[in-house]
Amino acid sequence: MSMFATVNPATGEKLAQYDYLTDEQLQDALARTDAAHRSWREVPLDERIAVLHRVADLYRERRDELARLTGLEMGKPFEEAKGEIDIVASIWDYYADHAEDLLREQELSVSGGGRAFIRTKSIGSILGIMPWNYPHYQVARFAAPNLVLGNSVLLKHAENCPQNALVVQELVEQAGGLPDAYLNVFVTTEQVGTILADRRNQGVSLTGSERAGAAVAEIAGRNLKKCVLELGGSDAFILLDTDDMDLAVEKAASGRMYNSGQACNSPKRLIVVEDLYEDFVSGLKQRLTSLRADPDTEMAAVSIGPVASRTAAEQLQEQVDDAVSKGATLHLGGTMSENGSFFSPTLLTDVKPGMRAYREEVFGPVAVVYKVKDEAAAIELANDSDYGLSCDIFSASPERAIAVADQLETGMAWINGISGTQADLPFGGVKKSGYGRELGEYGILEFANKKIFRLP
Ligand code: NAP
Repeated sequence: MSMFATVNPATGEKLAQYDYLTDEQLQDALARTDAAHRSWREVPLDERIAVLHRVADLYRERRDELARLTGLEMGKPFEEAKGEIDIVASIWDYYADHAEDLLREQELSVSGGGRAFIRTKSIGSILGIMPWNYPHYQVARFAAPNLVLGNSVLLKHAENCPQNALVVQELVEQAGGLPDAYLNVFVTTEQVGTILADRRNQGVSLTGSERAGAAVAEIAGRNLKKCVLELGGSDAFILLDTDDMDLAVEKAASGRMYNSGQACNSPKRLIVVEDLYEDFVSGLKQRLTSLRADPDTEMAAVSIGPVASRTAAEQLQEQVDDAVSKGATLHLGGTMSENGSFFSPTLLTDVKPGMRAYREEVFGPVAVVYKVKDEAAAIELANDSDYGLSCDIFSASPERAIAVADQLETGMAWINGISGTQADLPFGGVKKSGYGRELGEYGILEFANKKIFRLP
């Protein structure tokens, strides 16, 4: 039986060790999740709704404890982690509050007389593959809509947050969810293939990297399984004009450094028109200088936590070194700590095509500022990306910002604010940022059978 360990990313201390399921245990899990779907879909909707509300309550009751556990396994400062728990509770509540409306029978007007209507039904057990960067939020936006719909959930969480993974199952059980309606599994990537090939699985939703998305989509395609992919991003922040430079700088700095820069929709490319560029860069440098990497994850605001792993820090180091060696200007930071836990807040300019940082997702506390001549050049640069998740457009004229956002190849656009998330707003991207949507009304439809009934 093979094992994996969870490690405190701030200190490198090993926290606990877990076993992957044996192949026999995996077969048992598949049988249980399939059986759970058949029972769970028969549970009256109001009872499923009550379970979701109770999960939300439990998150609120255990807020501090769960925020600490989040920080322990993935390094998020305590204040930020509490913010994640609040959003999570709001997502479980949102689907509880809106399930009746979202799942209401729909009468169709049909040609040829008679009657037709649609019922929104569950389809079975759905596999969720989730990342560590928001260990409870990523799960909530997948699990809450699917559970209220009547699907059962099999959850493979990231290897570096197993304690958080186990807690979610515990919360759903405590809230009165049928046993196995939500089932956590510790499985290898090979076993993910076994799950997707099995007839007891009906689909997969993955949030993670482009690499993982492509691997899973390939297996899902081969097995004709529906797939939702929420992948990486290299979002453009565009500053067109402003009557409040301090605010624009503050938004860029906090947006980029939040979660140690490890958010899919973080503003990874800061694009500024040339007459504002010098002021913006010097303001940003000042702000980033005041931040410090701090192993005390109770601290927030003035400090940023560790990155997820030594491998993540090494990847950032390689991306920054590559840019600098090819002519980029390093204004600040640019180094990983000796123990590989932290990456210093970094500011780069003069990044050009041909440098890794230009094309790749830079997943850490590295702000890259680009100077452009005008609005048209900003749009061209923003669209010169393989990703298309979100964008943040700043202008004193919201109409101007909307017109620019309209031309960007992204799934979301935030005007005079940094891309965020809320339970009632669909979340997702285009291009290599993936396909499908989570949250809001679309989030409940991805793994639903819109079943047509036709009567004479
Ligand atoms: P990752 O390495 O792709 O891991 C994400 C999940 O996929 C983990 O559970 C991982 O398991 C699993 N996985 C990896 N390779 C797999 C494979 N070949 N087959 C099956 N499962 C596989 O991503 P990460 O580095 O943890 O997360 C960061 C990435 O997620 C960034 O690109 C970020 O932008 C993206 N992200 C996107 C969104 C969004 O909504 N669009 C939100 C958050 C994060 P193991 O841990 O066991 O490897």
